[in-house]
Amino acid sequence: MTPLNRFEIHQPATITEASRMLLEHGEEGGCYAGGTELLLALRHRALQYQHLVDIKVIPGLNSIQAANDWIDIGAACTHRDIERSPLIREKLPVVAEMESHVANVRVRASGTIGGNLCFAEPHSDPATLLLALEAVVRTEGESGARELRVDELINGAYSNSLEPGELLTSIHIPVLLPVQRAAYVKYQIRERPALGLAVVLDTPDGGATISQARIAIGCLCPFPRRSAAAEEMLRGSREEVEALIPQAAEVLADDAELIDDNEGAADYKRHLLGVFLRRAVARALDGA
Ligand SMILES: Cc1cc2nc3c(=O)[nH]c(=O)nc-3n(C[C@H](O)[C@H](O)[C@H](O)COP(=O)(O)OP(=O)(O)OC[C@H]3O[C@@H](n4cnc5c(N)ncnc54)[C@H](O)[C@@H]3O)c2cc1C
Repeated sequence: MTPLNRFEIHQPATITEASRMLLEHGEEGGCYAGGTELLLALRHRALQYQHLVDIKVIPGLNSIQAANDWIDIGAACTHRDIERSPLIREKLPVVAEMESHVANVRVRASGTIGGNLCFAEPHSDPATLLLALEAVVRTEGESGARELRVDELINGAYSNSLEPGELLTSIHIPVLLPVQRAAYVKYQIRERPALGLAVVLDTPDGGATISQARIAIGCLCPFPRRSAAAEEMLRGSREEVEALIPQAAEVLADDAELIDDNEGAADYKRHLLGVFLRRAVARALDGA
């Protein structure tokens, strides 16, 4: 196995200090959280940093808190922290459930939610669900703080919109309204998921009708996305919605620029979308 090149680890006490360190080291420096992607990328020389800024040591970056009708998750929280958090399990069980199926327990114990989103690896589970939940990510850097939607942060495969020295610091997720039901389903046969699909359905009458739908898909395209046209089709009585699922899945596939990759061919992913959209709607409405 190719050995790692030498690097120096810096441990900032604050976000401001971390940001300054990243700016100071420029292209030779990178942010280091759980290291599950970063160390692989360094080993394969896909990234070449001589200076790593370890953000896990910054106080407060790994907290999970409730604020009004939002849950705030620090960017350095690991998948395992989120999966096991009593607050997330109570207020956003769909997030705890999704996190419990990310990778394997070793990756979940080190890998962070911030690292997952910033690395923008296309086969990401959290990004797809967070997009459907209309989560907002907070970033901090030299020029101040910003709040972005997930699809503003992730702007391509392995690409994010962070500026030099800017860090993702937290993720704010709105708690679902009493009329909202959410589900995340995934399909995986290899190391990374081939499909991730999240729905958030507004049903004022306990599942008989759907007044509004949000659908996000990921893993089968370069970055997660929603489709307004497909969402529009999933409105009406449950029977009407179920009848339109095959067409809505085709619209999702057309809008998504499905790709052929290690996880499967684009045509196969198109087929998976129909199967898993039906499962996601049933799971959201029936809790099955
Ligand atoms: C074997 C394996 C299986 C996996 N399976 C899945 C899966 O099923 N589903 C899934 O969703 N993911 C999967 N992953 C991805 C995993 O979730 C990520 O590896 C992990 O969350 C990345 O977090 P990290 O803290 O290790 O990031 P790091 O490796 O430390 O960093 C990744 C990148 O993000 C940058 N970065 C990190 N934190 C920040 C921040 N706060 N602000 C700015 N930049 C930052 C780093 O500079 C680096 O470029 C898998 C990974 C592996 C290795």
